[in-house]
Amino acid sequence: MILDNRYNYTAKALLSVSMLTVSRSLCQKNLQQSTTSHFVICSVRNRHRTWTYKRFLIQDKFDCRKPRYLKLQKCDFRTTQNLHVPPLIALLLRPVLRIGSLLMGRGMKRWWLRKSDTEKEEYKRWFGERSNIFLGCFGLYGLILALYYLTHLETDPLTKRSRFIMFNREQEKKLGKMVLEAHLEVHKADLVPHSHPAYKRLIRVIEKIFTANKDLKLMRDTQWTLTVVNTPLTNSYILPGGNIFISLDILKIIENDDQLGIVLAHEMAHSLLLHNLEILSGQLMWDFLIAVPILLIWALFPDMAAALIHMIGERIVTVMYNLPFSRGLENEADEVGLKLAAKACIDIREAVVFWATMRTLTEMHTLPTELPGWISTHPAHGDREKHLNATMTKALELRHDSGCAVLPAADPRDKFYKRSAKEQETYFKQRGII
Ligand SMILES: [Zn+2]
Repeated sequence: MILDNRYNYTAKALLSVSMLTVSRSLCQKNLQQSTTSHFVICSVRNRHRTWTYKRFLIQDKFDCRKPRYLKLQKCDFRTTQNLHVPPLIALLLRPVLRIGSLLMGRGMKRWWLRKSDTEKEEYKRWFGERSNIFLGCFGLYGLILALYYLTHLETDPLTKRSRFIMFNREQEKKLGKMVLEAHLEVHKADLVPHSHPAYKRLIRVIEKIFTANKDLKLMRDTQWTLTVVNTPLTNSYILPGGNIFISLDILKIIENDDQLGIVLAHEMAHSLLLHNLEILSGQLMWDFLIAVPILLIWALFPDMAAALIHMIGERIVTVMYNLPFSRGLENEADEVGLKLAAKACIDIREAVVFWATMRTLTEMHTLPTELPGWISTHPAHGDREKHLNATMTKALELRHDSGCAVLPAADPRDKFYKRSAKEQETYFKQRGII
């Protein structure tokens, strides 16, 4: 996702790879055979259907526009002995844990209030005699969570960062299909027919990035799909399983294919970095951790006070941890996306121009005003512009080392920054953005 607070993305699918000659006719068949995988970009043909994934597969409503050929590669399903949580269970567990601990705490409080003073004294004595047992249970609960966390840490091969992931690839694949199905249903009225010229352009750029980064196993193993939607949101995002969604509106702001490559590489980087899985894993672990405090808050305090403490606590955690974490992942996707684009011989200097354009359009109120940085899931446009500019030298070296042709001497960043505010406005008007 390149913009803020639009969608939650939760997971991506990683599949095994086999030798496949993907043709238009084979595409549908192979999509049904989830034991094999290939690179294929599919678009939606008809916007007036009821869009469910099964229907796509069975009733030939996917249209695979651009076949690809991939080399033979052994299946690589994860064989670790770690205890992985099924994603559907994880998604259901989240509200169950939160609401369940709240209701249990409140129920305990009501039960306690119904007791007479004598009964309360007896229970206090009973509890006091067994306090070590209860404390031991809490300690054991914490220890199990800590051990589970530590045994599910892994190092990301691209960034070398340690991360907590509690799902395996098969689970991820299933979640990807499920989330894609839900999104297609939500956007069934907004789906852009595959005959739209935007598809051709997008597919060409995605293929360019894919081909240049085929050395990355996750790039090959992911079954990328593309959906263009006609919504008022100027945004792009990626769903679990490498399912890229992009709005027509953002294509108006993207000036050229280099900028488009930057946007798409950012989304693909999210997928390669398993950001959605990491977020979902962290959220579920956090829900397990705070289940006991929530129970205690609702057991010990009157309802109004408990609700207030609960809400304030949630807000503090969101601002102090969740949002900075989310912004960190966005910066990471920007950096890795820049590298993917550099290897694809894209003029990566356009990344800075793109975010400068987004910043300028926001300042001109053409785009929605940004949230203050500390309550935003994404870094501010201007911060991304600066961050990408700061990492540009290394990325340009990578581009050079990848054997790409020399970039034009005229730096698009200079061209952008040399324009005055009035000239920018005129330029955007000429391009039909404002
Ligand atoms: Zn993003």
